[in-house]
Amino acid sequence: MKICRYDNDRLGLVLGDEARDVTAALAVLPSVSWPVPLGDLMIANLGAIMTAVEKLISEAPVKEISDVQLRSPVANPSKIIGAPINYQTHIDESIIDDGIVSQRKISHISDWGLFLKANTSLVGPGDGVAVQFIEARNDHEVELAVVIGKACTHVSGENALDYVAGYAIGLDMTTRGKELQSFRKSSDSYAVIGPWLVTADEINDPNNLDLRISVNGEVRQDSNTRDLVYDVGRLIEYASERYTLLPGDIIMTGTPDGVGPVEPGDVMTAEIENIGVMEVAVRAA
Ligand code: MN
Repeated sequence: MKICRYDNDRLGLVLGDEARDVTAALAVLPSVSWPVPLGDLMIANLGAIMTAVEKLISEAPVKEISDVQLRSPVANPSKIIGAPINYQTHIDESIIDDGIVSQRKISHISDWGLFLKANTSLVGPGDGVAVQFIEARNDHEVELAVVIGKACTHVSGENALDYVAGYAIGLDMTTRGKELQSFRKSSDSYAVIGPWLVTADEINDPNNLDLRISVNGEVRQDSNTRDLVYDVGRLIEYASERYTLLPGDIIMTGTPDGVGPVEPGDVMTAEIENIGVMEVAVRAA
């Protein structure tokens, strides 16, 4: 299933170029009160949501996808995890272009670890990206985004995909500079997830998906997740050694070569095989 969130928190089932309004499925969610549980309530109850969606499909109002504003399909992750230097081609370009790493010594993801992006940076493609600090480089990084479905800790790489709810396209927007990643990559709107969540059953092998991004029609990044240094299973293993992973947590798996700057007025078109395509407009903050 492809599940989207659109307009004012409508829930949609994506079929071709259309979204069926299945917002009524949210009635299956348990009511919560303070302190609300960490994590995303919809993703935590995705099985019940999907059952409810099935019953609603035939009567659901239809919208053209092009007529709706797509939001992040995950509303309330407890954390957004980023993977640095996780494609060799991106490591190679970073060695040549110091504008990417600002004199930081490049080694291996096993040395650098992971980083967190602020939850307030999260938007969907319909929200667009508002670039800040335009005197610095603000780069696109297209990435496969993994959405965790079940709480887990100390997961082994072999079993890791059992804990995945689904996949989406991620843009790990980045202001270059000497500050730490969690600071530079956490401006409002610098984490784009979309265009929808594709449930894990629809992705045979997340470690063999073409991904690309173009800016104003010019292809900038064009690769395949088979070139990940730490693949999806290893990333979940690595993250869950440190963090308890909760339903709705997002892992941005890293970016291949071809990162580059965007400016207000640009339009980014990002695509991942078996997930879809999303257009993201860039504006000034
Ligand atoms: Mn990245």
